[in-house]
Amino acid sequence: MESTLRRTWAEIDIDALIHNYRTLRERAGKNVKFLGVVKADAYGHGAIRVSRTLEEMGADYLAVSSIDEAVELRTNGITMPILILGHTPREQVSKLIDYDITQAVTCEAKAIEYNEEALNLGKKLRIHIKLDTGMSRLGFICAGDYFDTGVKGITNACKLPGLDAEGIFTHFAVSDEEGEAAQEYTQNQFKLFIDVINAVQDSWGREFQIRHCANTGAVAKYPETYLDMIRPGLLLYGYGEYADELGLKPVMSLKSTISTIKIYPKGTAVSYGGIFVTDRQTRMAVIPYGYADGFFRALSNKCSIMTQDGLAPQRGKICMDMSMIDITDLPAVNVGSEVEIFGKNNSLNELSSLAGTIPYELTCAVSKRVPRLYIKGGEVVERELLLRSK
Ligand SMILES: *Cc1c(COP(=O)(O)O)cnc(C)c1O
Repeated sequence: MESTLRRTWAEIDIDALIHNYRTLRERAGKNVKFLGVVKADAYGHGAIRVSRTLEEMGADYLAVSSIDEAVELRTNGITMPILILGHTPREQVSKLIDYDITQAVTCEAKAIEYNEEALNLGKKLRIHIKLDTGMSRLGFICAGDYFDTGVKGITNACKLPGLDAEGIFTHFAVSDEEGEAAQEYTQNQFKLFIDVINAVQDSWGREFQIRHCANTGAVAKYPETYLDMIRPGLLLYGYGEYADELGLKPVMSLKSTISTIKIYPKGTAVSYGGIFVTDRQTRMAVIPYGYADGFFRALSNKCSIMTQDGLAPQRGKICMDMSMIDITDLPAVNVGSEVEIFGKNNSLNELSSLAGTIPYELTCAVSKRVPRLYIKGGEVVERELLLRSK
């Protein structure tokens, strides 16, 4: 993998991650637990290294989207509690129990299936009940006319002898959006969440140990929703508008190097389709970073890459493995010069809004052929290449 390091790589700043964790933990207060969302390979940052750091820092919980992601963490030495947010088929209940993984339960039918499997094994499965309070995705429906059936279904699930209902959670749909309508929607979701919890606890005769709902938007804007545990993803990685407000630092810097420079006369068409034609003599550089690395082709001819001397506009269609940048006005930039695609000097928030999307999508898109370099105290402490090596 050494040979690929000078191509394009992602620097993962463990100190920034620790800073963000500490800042958020302090914001939440002493009595609130911390769940770090590390699904999708920790939003592209590398779930194993991020989880190890969170475990060392004393975080309380991790969340992933699937059993494969959870088992990856367990087999790499992570011992702290892990919650699977998505569905797991009943056939894998024994694996959940063996690996000591907590499963979200999203409806009564699944609770019954999981219970049967657990009882067959003579064991208990730890679960968190998932409520749909307005996201309209996974979870027990309990809004409006569904309140009573929702409460009854959840209570039934909690009473099943093969299940240990440790927690209950819901997910906000618009907590990160501005405006009164979004605020009202979020507050209504929260109110419904609390009403359902109270009604279930009354009929169940017990209390949930961990009630949680605060994702990034809610951690930033709705402290009343912290309850027993906050559950941020994006904020932990230091992106989005709230990250700046809260003094968080971007954890990933995506970097590349200039592999070739050529000087073209005025009137030269550049790359597929020739959508960019030089309007002067142009010094054009090729960087080995294309859409197969996670660049968005939709950004072709629209974005800029940071060099040591300032921004260089990207020109022409972005290709699979390469793209071109205009360095005519940056004479000190040369073959081998390092450039930053996004990170501390080139805002991911801006790049993602140029692409018409959210920062999450860009970090998740950084592909497996881009090595991750983990940096701590200014030194590379670990390297990881996700390509198959056997
Ligand atoms: C992804 C996810 C989160 C984290 O969301 P952020 O916006 O990144 O904070 C929290 N809860 C659930 C259920 C999720 O799916």
